[in-house]
Amino acid sequence: MSELPYSYEAPVSQTLFDRAAAVTPGGVNSPVRAFRAVGGTPRFMVSGTGPYLTDADGREYVDLVCSWGPMILGHARPEVIAAVQEAVSRGTSFGTPGEGEVALAEEMVDRIEPLEQVRLVSSGTEATMSAIRLARGFTRRTKVIKFAGCYHGHVDSLLAAAGSGVATFALPDTPGVTGAQAGDTIVLPYNDLEAVQEAFHRHPGEIACVITEASPGNMGVVPPLPGFNQGLKDTCRKNGALFVSDEVMTGFRTSRAGWYGVDGVRPDLMTFGKVMGGGFPAAAFGGRADIMEHLAPVGPVYQAGTLSGNPVATAAGLAQLRLLDQAAYDTVDAVSAQIRSLVGEALTKEGVAHRVQNASNMFSVFFADRAVRDYEDAKKQDSFRYTAFFHSLLANGVYLPPSSFESWFVSTAHDERAVQRIADALPAAARAAAEATAA
Ligand code: PLP
Repeated sequence: MSELPYSYEAPVSQTLFDRAAAVTPGGVNSPVRAFRAVGGTPRFMVSGTGPYLTDADGREYVDLVCSWGPMILGHARPEVIAAVQEAVSRGTSFGTPGEGEVALAEEMVDRIEPLEQVRLVSSGTEATMSAIRLARGFTRRTKVIKFAGCYHGHVDSLLAAAGSGVATFALPDTPGVTGAQAGDTIVLPYNDLEAVQEAFHRHPGEIACVITEASPGNMGVVPPLPGFNQGLKDTCRKNGALFVSDEVMTGFRTSRAGWYGVDGVRPDLMTFGKVMGGGFPAAAFGGRADIMEHLAPVGPVYQAGTLSGNPVATAAGLAQLRLLDQAAYDTVDAVSAQIRSLVGEALTKEGVAHRVQNASNMFSVFFADRAVRDYEDAKKQDSFRYTAFFHSLLANGVYLPPSSFESWFVSTAHDERAVQRIADALPAAARAAAEATAA
């Protein structure tokens, strides 16, 4: 990476990172956090309040990552913290059924009409892994269609051409995934319905399901073209396969009913995580009751979890969901629109080719001169401009995802002061992006 046109240091974070690197591969517990795509020292955060994060060096940032989506009410929202404290005071895990998990499931089912039953798990990865197993068990077929650039967690069979960290590090394939696992996965270009129809034609009676991000945010934000999700659903139905919509990122974020609330296409199965956990490890999969009834203990498809439906996590998730009324979504949508236009104006002023793409309040910036419709387009962006843009904003107290293949997230807590700080930092960042040169 060329030298940055500004200097700023994070000595305490650097010391922590050095310590971390000695005991943890790459010093992080999830690869993108290591800042490898953008270079520099990852900031070790010590606290968060509303739209702000404070790092170990005492520097405050406006947070545009929001823990990769979950913190839609901002950090340390008092009602969520109170619900967690109340739950913790009663004990942290029982390994038995509890009312909190029922209430969370009821809240989810109430919001999303095609969601008849849900099973709670602890991560989005577990949710998609379990949904795929259930789809295979239900249909008694083996193959799965996924799309290049869509990330569904680090499920072995779904890591092929995944977006997010896999894209950030340009990993073609992951060692450790067997040929059999990869061989049952058919990877197709996103937004290409013909490719899907052709795959069904080539593999009659073999495809268990199509899994897609309801609206992808893991190659940057690349919404489905009009009719794409409906086309997937129709093609699945015609061919006896299940349509699995991964709403881990979009669920309860893009609307009260997630992306289903935006496009109304009824999936057979859905997966959730992030917002529904209120910042705790809670996730879920669910959908048609006749399919969900194939799960143990009712049916033969096994799935389980020691901490599934954990009382503290479900209390946090439920408190967060109950605060997410239409006014909250209106607020998040409005602040997202405001920041999108500020970013667009700053980059336009500096003559930087870019596209700000959004799916309701999720958005990202591509340094590209045309709309990005799939992973191939996303890979063609000038990522070196993002690096300069990112570091300039970081130096001026704005925390963006440390990769150009990720969505940006805002919250109800992003108020005028936070937006003003972003507005103040943008002109220099746009200039840095304009002046950046490929390494
Ligand atoms: N599916 C989607 C669409 C995601 O964005 C993610 C994570 O970013 C996952 C699944 C995996 O979730 P987790 O990181 O909780 O395992």
